[in-house]
Amino acid sequence: MPRDVLSLRPMTTPGFSYRGRFAPSPTGPLHFGSLVAAVGSFLEARTRGGEWHLRMDDVDTPRCSLAAASEILRVLENCGFAWDGALVWQSRRTAAYADALERLKAAGRVFPCACTRRDLADSAFAADGAVVYPGTCRQGLPAGRAARAWRLRVGDARVAFDDAIQGRIASDLAVAAGDFVLLRADGLFAYQLAVVVDDAEAAITDVVRGADLLASTARQIFLQQCLGVPTPAYAHLPVVVDAAGEKLSKQTRAAPVDGSRPGPALCAALEFLGQHPPAELSRAGVAELWAWALANWQLRRVPRGPAPMTECPGVR
Ligand code: GLU
Repeated sequence: MPRDVLSLRPMTTPGFSYRGRFAPSPTGPLHFGSLVAAVGSFLEARTRGGEWHLRMDDVDTPRCSLAAASEILRVLENCGFAWDGALVWQSRRTAAYADALERLKAAGRVFPCACTRRDLADSAFAADGAVVYPGTCRQGLPAGRAARAWRLRVGDARVAFDDAIQGRIASDLAVAAGDFVLLRADGLFAYQLAVVVDDAEAAITDVVRGADLLASTARQIFLQQCLGVPTPAYAHLPVVVDAAGEKLSKQTRAAPVDGSRPGPALCAALEFLGQHPPAELSRAGVAELWAWALANWQLRRVPRGPAPMTECPGVR
């Protein structure tokens, strides 16, 4: 597809430069929910005269594969997405995460934790299914126990932010997450740390992503405050659910986006995002589809969701 269609940008507001991103986790092929995040983040960035960056969130290396990353890139390219700057791989950014953790250690913001999964078996669960840490090692490691992970002290932090789609979100971190892990027992850095360090380094001003990550956002904002980096603006897109109301994910074996037929998939994503593309767009080429989407995109039309996967109007 001609790249000039995608690089169409309105005039940038002087003094402000929007930088958005899409950050898939290459744990499997791109499914409809991820395509929705790609489409929403891309259109919001481009229609606001901004840059759109691409990052492979492969920090959790055992769950990720190069094959999945290549497949995601192939589908994105077939769909006509063009990103700014170099593709960032989290797996190559360990030094930056280690540096951030050292800064937090020096500031007394983190503590080593010896708890095993079994030690935490009786703990409460947060909304996203993670364990709310009961504080066992907060005042020091129990005698004879060795550090396995590093956790961030949340204290009595309360975080509130205005999401452009979901509205005002307020979170009491002690209840919602407790002291959360930054360096895991298996030696890998946690997603929460990686995403905050990467968004800050890329100077991301606006995060548009799926509402399945809404529960993480308060943690990420608190971590940004601890590290002294800016907080981007957030817009969480509705979650795509299957017929049983379950979030579409690689774990629920959501069908991969058919990269050989990008038109209907993109059109369905636009429909899901409340943009209501005309039925004839389903038969149009990718260039025409993007031209329509760029001319018509409005974030305020995006529903809060969650909602089941949509079909492209006109395709049955
Ligand atoms: N890598 C995350 C995912 O695929 C998204 C991270 C983000 O957008 O902050 O669920």
